[in-house]
Amino acid sequence: MAVTRRQFMKVSAAGLAASSVGALGFLDAGDALAAGVRPFRLEKATETRNTCPYCAVSCGVLVYSAADAKDGKAKVIHIEGDSDNPINRGTLCPRGAASLGFVHSVNRLKYPMHRKPGSDKFERVSWDFAMDRIAKLAKEDRDKNFVAKNRDGVTVNRWLSTGFLGGSSCSNEAGYLTYKVVRSTGILALENQARI
Ligand code: SF4
Repeated sequence: MAVTRRQFMKVSAAGLAASSVGALGFLDAGDALAAGVRPFRLEKATETRNTCPYCAVSCGVLVYSAADAKDGKAKVIHIEGDSDNPINRGTLCPRGAASLGFVHSVNRLKYPMHRKPGSDKFERVSWDFAMDRIAKLAKEDRDKNFVAKNRDGVTVNRWLSTGFLGGSSCSNEAGYLTYKVVRSTGILALENQARI
């Protein structure tokens, strides 16, 4: 039987492929492939929807947590863009994409700290202590510096010696309430990190 050049190449290629697979032990390629697939690492993780805290774009993120092997406590293991979020549709900028580092940073402030007068270090305090102290100092400052009328006798009701920092990733509702409460005190310096 005459064999054309094309037929010869086809037969040779098929034989080579078969012998190579056999030599590698992949006779049952399906099983071998399945055995080589690592389990999806987020399979048993808890998924939580949240908002990137960095800027006013407020991209949606999916935060995955799982029990830590050492102490069993839930620990954030992965953060990615939320593809269902209409703002970012799964994308994140480099800053948002690196937010796992922010979560586990040793420099991250997780609770209120207070430096006593004359002290050279900050110490951890309770939220109650922090809230009471802020309220007390704010009231003292407002009582002292609130301006009801300007020099022309026009009512201005302003308090210029204290400012308030909000968060651009707050929801509309939280932002609205923050604005109302802060403005009702007369504060003009209401700020957040929104710059986009
Ligand atoms: S643009 Fe970047 S920093 Fe801003 S919310 Fe989106 S991911 Fe976060």
